[in-house]
Amino acid sequence: MNDIATSDARVADVRIDGGRLWQSLMDLARIGATPLGGVRRIALTDLDRQGRDRVVAWFREAGLEVRVDPIGNIFGRRRGRNPKLPPVVAGSHIDTQPSGGKFDGNYGVLAGLEVVRTLNDHGVETEAPIEVAVWTNEEGTRFTPVMMGSGVFAGVHRLDAVLARTDLAGLAVGDELRRIGYAGDAPTGTPIGAYFEAHIEQGPILEDTANTIGVVTGALGQRWYDVTVTGMNAHAGPTPMRLRRDALLGAARLIDEVNRIALDFAPHGRGTVGFIQASPNSRNVVPGQVKCSVDFRHAADGGLLGMDGELEAAARRIGRETNVAVAVEEVVYFPPCHFDAACVGAVRAAAARLGCSHVDIVSGAGHDAVYVARVAPTAMIFVPCKDGISHNEIEDAKPEDLAAGCNVLAQAMLDRAGIE
Ligand SMILES: [Zn+2]
Repeated sequence: MNDIATSDARVADVRIDGGRLWQSLMDLARIGATPLGGVRRIALTDLDRQGRDRVVAWFREAGLEVRVDPIGNIFGRRRGRNPKLPPVVAGSHIDTQPSGGKFDGNYGVLAGLEVVRTLNDHGVETEAPIEVAVWTNEEGTRFTPVMMGSGVFAGVHRLDAVLARTDLAGLAVGDELRRIGYAGDAPTGTPIGAYFEAHIEQGPILEDTANTIGVVTGALGQRWYDVTVTGMNAHAGPTPMRLRRDALLGAARLIDEVNRIALDFAPHGRGTVGFIQASPNSRNVVPGQVKCSVDFRHAADGGLLGMDGELEAAARRIGRETNVAVAVEEVVYFPPCHFDAACVGAVRAAAARLGCSHVDIVSGAGHDAVYVARVAPTAMIFVPCKDGISHNEIEDAKPEDLAAGCNVLAQAMLDRAGIE
């Protein structure tokens, strides 16, 4: 054993190689590179295979033992002194949106790899094994549901049901996994001692508050609704205003209420109507039917329930006032996620020890960590991305911020894995 590993103080001095991390990010981004500087590497395509092969080759070069489970999640293991302990895991995803960026997901995987390379460089042994995980199909752009690999791992989705999911061309997840060589037979859902996911923020808060590290305490819960407003198609000229049953008028008032409700539930309330379809959508017909979506998010279940109650009340009142029927159907529910206090504490302590400006933050988006948190102690580390923009080819992040987040990841993992 190297004597560096015998001293807490000296392990705390271990720093990752930010240049090497950046180079790996740029190398992986060449697979599926787009003309505008982004990446298009959609789950279970040939490009996804090339990306996976690249990462697996790096895992092997770093001495990791690689295994693949039946939903195609990849795990690279660095042995610990006590092989009976469950591993401390860093991970994320390498599939992208159709016009995605270089950092979303890729950063969490390659930051985990950089931690391993750094431990190798310094001869640091850990008590628990260290693993790097690559979760299958986080983005859900070709195959739904989103966060597929971590969802199967956490027992949220049944493996056989997910393997049978098809894309628009009728190709199934199971067949595509076999075709690209990533239908593995390692057991899934195996115990994890602690899970950390480093990720770009995908929002503007860190930049806005001039902080380098977001200590992610959890993720907003979500309730999604399909709304159907039904009135009566009528001629725009002969039908007097007071006799109309204008479905779009009802929908307009409801959309305004969605915004008002979210503002009333500040700071963690979010309310969005992102989809609307008026029928018959003709300029001289009073619309007889409107379909729209509502997306509510809140950090607390009580908050979400309060927003839900106000939406129902608004729907009833608007229906009466505008003489239409407003039907609200809930279609998706993700409970709010609270990360593990000890893991969150390890991230916060690491940021403080490293002298990084940091702030507690609640993730507004879903991540693999939200599912892993159901079966293992979990936390996330956010770093700023330029203008808070993600799911876009212009997604950008600063090398020094990415390095800082990776150093926090390394310290937090060592904290949980133990070095004595
Ligand atoms: Zn992501």
